[in-house]
Amino acid sequence: MSTKFALPPFLLLLLGLWTPPSLNAVLAQQPLGFTTENQPPKLVVAITVDQMRADYLTRYAKGFGDGGFKRFFNEGFAGLDHHFSYAPTYTGPGHASIATGTTPAVHGIIGNNWFSRETGSKVYCVEDTAVQPVGMAGIDPGTAGQMSPGKLHASTWADEFKLHFSQREGAQPKVMGASMKDRGAILPAGHAADAAYWVSSGQFISSTHYMESLPKWVRQFNKSNNLEKLLAEGWSLRDAPESYAGSMADNTPYEGVWRGGERPTFPYDLLALEEGNGGQDIIKGTPHGNTLLVDFALAAIDAEELGSDDVPDVLALSFSSTDYVGHKFGAHAMETEDTYRRLDDQLSRLFDRLDTQIGTGQWTAFLTADHGAVTVPGLEKNRGLPVDYWNPEPMKAAVYAAVAARFGRSDIIREYDNDQFFLNRAVLRQEGIDADEVARFVAATAAEFPEVQKVMTAADLRGSTYLEGAEANIQRGWHSLYSGDVIVMLKPGYLEYSRTGTSHGSPYAYDTHVPFLIMGPGVPQGVTYTRTEIRDIAPTLSALLGFPRPSGCTGKPMPALFD
Ligand SMILES: [Zn+2]
Repeated sequence: MSTKFALPPFLLLLLGLWTPPSLNAVLAQQPLGFTTENQPPKLVVAITVDQMRADYLTRYAKGFGDGGFKRFFNEGFAGLDHHFSYAPTYTGPGHASIATGTTPAVHGIIGNNWFSRETGSKVYCVEDTAVQPVGMAGIDPGTAGQMSPGKLHASTWADEFKLHFSQREGAQPKVMGASMKDRGAILPAGHAADAAYWVSSGQFISSTHYMESLPKWVRQFNKSNNLEKLLAEGWSLRDAPESYAGSMADNTPYEGVWRGGERPTFPYDLLALEEGNGGQDIIKGTPHGNTLLVDFALAAIDAEELGSDDVPDVLALSFSSTDYVGHKFGAHAMETEDTYRRLDDQLSRLFDRLDTQIGTGQWTAFLTADHGAVTVPGLEKNRGLPVDYWNPEPMKAAVYAAVAARFGRSDIIREYDNDQFFLNRAVLRQEGIDADEVARFVAATAAEFPEVQKVMTAADLRGSTYLEGAEANIQRGWHSLYSGDVIVMLKPGYLEYSRTGTSHGSPYAYDTHVPFLIMGPGVPQGVTYTRTEIRDIAPTLSALLGFPRPSGCTGKPMPALFD
């Protein structure tokens, strides 16, 4: 008998001669999401569908084929109680939270725009005056190209993926983001991305954060007539009108009308509507915007050779047109259902190409949304539901007047933005007024309005940890440096918006409940109704593929995928 085995295990463990069998087993195992050749998938496709409510998967299912949304159910995994765990549920925070595995309280993207105490004006979530536009020569002078992920204060899963799978010498993973929207392209791709492209005046552009000039293939794509052909097609229903069982009639008072259009009804002559609706950018508000994005993605896969070798790549696509259509027509319009049928076709086209070009079983894709949307309040109100539109002006006027009367100055409130009051800290200091006292007074005044559910103050959010419900969502969306001093939470179903179409932003289920779908090597086939959160996506990917969690990650791998 050797002395090695004569010693008790704890001593062997101390001497480094023995490791527990369970640890050995774990270390010997390849990451669950590797291919049968023990390699990472050649390409990870990260899909965000802008404004996709969870119920669209079921309500629109009859119009879906087998190759798009349904392919995830047939081959992969679906999280069917998947939620945002913060508010405000807007596009910028949504994409940032998917990418970083945390919430605005940590990553700092607290809105699409927000009031900056530093500059005294509104800032945009991806604006960056330190970078220059790329690819905008001769078009759309302005700031459309001055964008970067500089305001995102955490690493993304793609950042960690890129470093982890980089070879010591030689190839590095390529990471690319693309979307109609700048924030939809930039935030998912992360800080270390090779490229992000978004659309302005019908052209895919970028910024000097990524490159000095557009690659030749992007210039060629912009010169091609893909966009013109799609616009010339116009927009008519893909299928017979009576098949749109998930929608209301084509012409309802809850739908918006394009400038120059008469009714919200099919067919739409897009060339005739171009003028007055953003020129060629009208494509963003039609399902053709999604088609153009897949055209662009396929061109990128070819030209950048994404997924062509053993060094894995990332392609992050955000389909924005669903959001523009939802904002104009609402969650129960035939236009919205048709947009999803056509998106389903485009997903199928994309996945088929990945199979033939990269290989079946060699790629991984996930799909989620950046927020949901409320049912058009006018529609629900007419059906007797306790909802309505919200105009904050009377509340603001009451609060401003009450604060001036109580504290003797009319400039104590500096700004009202994103349902938040920002106090004028300089004035409070000068007058020796306690900020928490003012905040409590503002909260009590605002809370008298019947549309208001609750008003929370910075002191509430600093002093307590809310465990569930809307209050917890508000807290996880509240950044201690950037957010306001008093936060107004409306009752469920109340919306500050036009009387047609819909919007989002609340901490409630209609805005937080979105799909999570994933398929690829090692992903089990199944569904779970156990609650999962948006911030769980990044750590799930990192557990699946064995790379580190993003720097600010507060989510956790979804147990149903690993147990
Ligand atoms: Zn959005």
